[in-house]
Amino acid sequence: MADIIQLLPDSIANQIAAGEVIQRPASVVKELLENAIDAGATSIQVILKDAGKALIQIIDNGCGMSETDARMSFERHATSKIRDAKDLFCIKTMGFRGEALASIAAVAQVEMRTRQHIHDLGTRIVIEGSAVKTQEPCQAPSGTTFFIKNLFYNIPARRNFLKSDSVEMRHILDEFQRIAIANPEVHFTLHHNNNELFHLPSGNLRQRLVSIFGAQSNKKLVPVSEETDVVRINGFVGKPEFGKKTRGEQFFFVNNRFIKSAYLHHAIMSAFENLLPDDAYPMYVLFIDIDPSRIDINVHPTKQEIKFDDERLVYHYLRVSVRHALGQYAVMPSLDFDAEPTFTGYETAAGRQNKETKPAADNRSEKSDWGRITPPQNFAAPNASSNLQNWKKLYEGLEENDGDAPESAQASITIESAATETETESATEQGTFGGSQKLPYQIHNTYIVSHIKSGFLLIDQQAAHERILYERYLELFEKKEAGTQQELFPRTLRVSPADAEVLREMLPQINMLGFDIQDFGADTFVIHGTPADVFAGDDSQKTIEKLLEQFKSNLELKLDLRDNIARSLARSAAIKRGKVLTVLEMQELIDKLFACQMPFKSPTGRNCFITFDLDELRRKFES
Ligand code: ADP
Ligand code: MG
Repeated sequence: MADIIQLLPDSIANQIAAGEVIQRPASVVKELLENAIDAGATSIQVILKDAGKALIQIIDNGCGMSETDARMSFERHATSKIRDAKDLFCIKTMGFRGEALASIAAVAQVEMRTRQHIHDLGTRIVIEGSAVKTQEPCQAPSGTTFFIKNLFYNIPARRNFLKSDSVEMRHILDEFQRIAIANPEVHFTLHHNNNELFHLPSGNLRQRLVSIFGAQSNKKLVPVSEETDVVRINGFVGKPEFGKKTRGEQFFFVNNRFIKSAYLHHAIMSAFENLLPDDAYPMYVLFIDIDPSRIDINVHPTKQEIKFDDERLVYHYLRVSVRHALGQYAVMPSLDFDAEPTFTGYETAAGRQNKETKPAADNRSEKSDWGRITPPQNFAAPNASSNLQNWKKLYEGLEENDGDAPESAQASITIESAATETETESATEQGTFGGSQKLPYQIHNTYIVSHIKSGFLLIDQQAAHERILYERYLELFEKKEAGTQQELFPRTLRVSPADAEVLREMLPQINMLGFDIQDFGADTFVIHGTPADVFAGDDSQKTIEKLLEQFKSNLELKLDLRDNIARSLARSAAIKRGKVLTVLEMQELIDKLFACQMPFKSPTGRNCFITFDLDELRRKFES
């Protein structure tokens, strides 16, 4: 039999390749915008007709191409961005496959004009269905202009497959916004059928987000900025109260490339735990910078998916960064972190407006300026102690502050210390009365007053303890190193048959938390031991009963088993409102609360503390 295998002609091979890269007008816009960014453009204009079906014109002022490169750029696998396989692991450009122009030229009528600024004349190339129609010298502004006309003109099936103009436009705007957000230093405009839809002057990220999402978005943005040995995380999250029911304002960029990741999205959602109403999504725009050798972006031709060598680590850092940011924001209005001048400074700093002339690299350093919004810290190991360090700042300089406190504050301190003298030390020891302004004290055996340099915190002891225990239990599930206090005499616990089923299901988990409970069959359990550090002298049977109640009522929340157990046990074991605490106990509670990742809310969503600001108090007395 004769040989039958043939190589496909380029035009067909390109058309097949185009099927993957170019699905709709939005894909063309994305590829051409990325090329313009890679070419170092500082200004990019997009002009569209009929949602890009009739025309996509993109004008950039980037580096342009030589005559030979102009011709080469339309060849498949022709790229100036990588040379060999090892370059694949340190990709810093948006493109690298050398497929886009070849694909576009296979399925549209393309005209390109390009000129390098050192040359007087540029090159004009017309190419249709992979066939070069014209190549000639031409007058052209420095940079590159593409005209893509009649996409899929030669593949009627695909052209018919395109959706309505409004749907195609939405896809285009999605791509446009992602690239505009990732490159705030670049000036962008977008016109559709002669209407200007976007005019985005060069600026910083906050300004860019405000130009895209509207002026009212400014006050919603909470800056995020953390750096570790492995990743740098920068950007903004929306304040929880502005969460929306519909998605659409969630953006991850890894090394400035937009990506989608349900897994990392989950990290953000869990950082917002309890802060958002049910089924609402927070807005976020987060840039994850990571050594390119730790990721593989070569997963999908449209490159929205990405593989990390350690995705769990990135998840963890993201979650902690966002929590820190929300934490700073929650107290920011009333507490004076050292860095506050930067916080107010960067909204007004006029110098930052003049970004047009700054090189792109500068913009990155500006992003890291936000770092000063959060207290300087070593983020290498985001853990309890580093969080505690942050909070300690609230208390720092308390003494000095008192010295030059405003008159009204002075007065209150005097009254307080006068009262102390009459009560003497014994009261202080019990901790139920404020002996010195530095020691915490309890009111109504429910709230703890704790002085900080700008005022005081009122801490709900029960909510705070629930938070502390909850995080502790979650940690124990991970670490599995709970200590058990053996009971001198094992206690028997009898429950209803239904409860016995529930308890049986929970048993392996709660024993991980330091319980030592044995299933004795016939609705009977024997408690041999309880967690060493949690239940000093508490009634273990009662705790288990309360735990069961709580667990059952949480079932509606559809939490995972461990989360439910951690919440339920935190709730049943926490110290209650009305319990007298010693100063030492209060201090320990405060320290542990602020070592938590999420000190603001109890697991059920109550505030753990409220801040009172001296200035605000003074104003209240004045009015
Ligand atoms: P890739 O971007 O993956 O390299 P493309 O097919 O998108 O592949 O582009 C091929 C080459 O054409 C690029 O590597 C670049 O050298 C050149 N090029 C494309 N667009 C532009 C542009 N707007 N300005 C300058 N050079 C460009
Ligand atoms: Mg490209």
